[in-house]
Amino acid sequence: MSAQPGVEADEARRPAVAIPADSATATGRPGPATQPPGTPDRLPDGPAGAARAERNSWLAALDFDRSPFTIAWEITRACAYACLHCRADAQPKRDPRELDTDEAHRLIDQLAGFGTQPILVLTGGDPLMRRDVFELARHADERGLRVSLTPTATALATRERMRQARESGIRRVAFSIDAGDAEVHDRFRGFRGSFERTRQGMRNAADEGLPLQVNTTVCALNVHTLERMVPVLEEWGVVQWSVFFLVPTGRGEQLKMISAEEHERVLTWLHDLSRDAPFDIKATAAPQYRRIAAHRSGSNAGAGYRFADGLNRPMRGVNDGRGFMFISHRGEVMPSGFLPISAGDVRTGDPVDIYRNSPLFRSLRDPEALTGKCGRCEFREICGGSRARAWAITGDVLASDPSCPYQPAG
Ligand code: SF4
Repeated sequence: MSAQPGVEADEARRPAVAIPADSATATGRPGPATQPPGTPDRLPDGPAGAARAERNSWLAALDFDRSPFTIAWEITRACAYACLHCRADAQPKRDPRELDTDEAHRLIDQLAGFGTQPILVLTGGDPLMRRDVFELARHADERGLRVSLTPTATALATRERMRQARESGIRRVAFSIDAGDAEVHDRFRGFRGSFERTRQGMRNAADEGLPLQVNTTVCALNVHTLERMVPVLEEWGVVQWSVFFLVPTGRGEQLKMISAEEHERVLTWLHDLSRDAPFDIKATAAPQYRRIAAHRSGSNAGAGYRFADGLNRPMRGVNDGRGFMFISHRGEVMPSGFLPISAGDVRTGDPVDIYRNSPLFRSLRDPEALTGKCGRCEFREICGGSRARAWAITGDVLASDPSCPYQPAG
């Protein structure tokens, strides 16, 4: 497989770093940062640096009170798989209450109303279970949204469909891989052979020149396999490894999260890895990754990371409802797919207005509204804890995130 198309990051490759048995930052106070949190990584000299600086200033100017950076749209819940950790609790058949094609087109027009070209992730279920998926992608691309796709690795992810994806304007394809070896991955998927199917789907996408992303959900079942993922990601030439930390919602309620100390240990390892890995690393549902990055290197993890496919990283941290929104298959507007509280409905309301003005979204963007440890924490601006996990475990969206062992100074 070809080497990572389009990454502007360090090309150096080195062997995977071992996950340390212990983390110096697990409960300690942050040391002096060499730069304030949020400072972008050093810019290259010359025209490349100037172009990146211009782009960075545009990214920095994005106001998350006005626009999300990323919108995930669950265009269907239908999926041939029934994965152990599925947030969506996906079903084999399409829900008759899904937005139909006309409603979906209207939604895309509404989302274009943000006026800031957010990333639109067409997700599911398996988005390939909708026949109109490429029609919708094309319409979104024409309206200025930056579209990516998260197909399930079934027989539907053919070379022909990947060609259609590329031609419809889809810029990146993300596949889920939950272990570096077939046995654990297949156990997650409940289907022997799914690892090999994933390999084939990724090959089909890569052969069509589509940049690849890998999404991995970390829980007690697979945390010991993460190191083995790295050579696989290198071999497959992915541009980004998006590491999701289990939020116990949907079918994921049945799985065991890793402990707060293990979160810290894995995030610290990821931060080490990010320094030299030939792919970008993004932590999802673990915003304390930014605290760790700020503490260890004074940078905002991944801030401003740029890709040739245009699906760049924002300068500031995205969190549930703050730079991120989710639209369910039935058109409910939610702060995230892992935080399934509806703040409104696109059939009866405007998603732009819901994002900007609903009390739920507004409270999630206010660090002063946080309670408990996160409310006292000096990192609440750049982190704020996973609001989805706080809700899943305590029932309160503004409570502390139990996955973080950090003890604030305040
Ligand atoms: S205590 Fe909360 S706000 Fe502070 S670093 Fe941990 S999760 Fe983030």
